Amino acid sequence: MKNESEYALNDSKHIDHGKIFVISAPSGAGKTTLVGMLRERFPLLVESVSCTTRKPRRNEVDGIDYFFLSPDEFFKKRETGLFAEWAEVHGNFYGTPLDFLQKQLDSGKDVICDIDYQGAINIKRAFPKEAVLILILPPSMEELESRLRLRATDDPEVIKTRLHNAKNEILHYPHFDFVVVNNDLDTAFQQLAAIISAHTDSSIFHNIETIKKLTEQDG
Ligand code: 5GP
Repeated sequence: MKNESEYALNDSKHIDHGKIFVISAPSGAGKTTLVGMLRERFPLLVESVSCTTRKPRRNEVDGIDYFFLSPDEFFKKRETGLFAEWAEVHGNFYGTPLDFLQKQLDSGKDVICDIDYQGAINIKRAFPKEAVLILILPPSMEELESRLRLRATDDPEVIKTRLHNAKNEILHYPHFDFVVVNNDLDTAFQQLAAIISAHTDSSIFHNIETIKKLTEQDG
């Protein structure tokens, strides 16, 4: 008869896979900045690069920020089942490559996906054990609007659409596991880092070798 800890060590169901951290936010909530800070704090986190039919912005690099595809190329991939999830966001199509995601998880790596709420919900459906959904919110709609205008990467019509969509995105909050309000950037980052750290640094999966060594010794 095995004791309880032996069961825990051998029950690979909850310890043998990486996590998928899905970070969603209305445009302008500060997600890109926060994800950049996470990259430095958690260098082992692997970022999923999405495919999109959106045109590249200034400074965006194909294969790094996105894989920029024509609508035809995107639809072909979608029909072949190459996306873990896909969605239409603000009039453009976006999709998360399945193959890359699966490979990272299979090798025990943790992945971060910067995708919208529709994608977040579908990733949770496809990977219920691995997905951790985090919603980043602005402190107010007024602040969101002012950040979008200051950013000046989109024209006024696009900003209007994004503001209009923000409320709908926020109303999907029940699907998420965590919410981080980005009022003060450093505080928001600390909260976000704590969520990720709890699921990585402090997880059984990441500490299994130490646990094995501690329990294998006689005495
Ligand atoms: P942007 O065009 O500003 O880079 O992104 C617009 C929105 O699309 C953001 O909310 C971003 O998170 C989302 N997005 C980016 N990649 C994907 C993806 O692969 N799937 C989904 N569902 N949304 C994505």
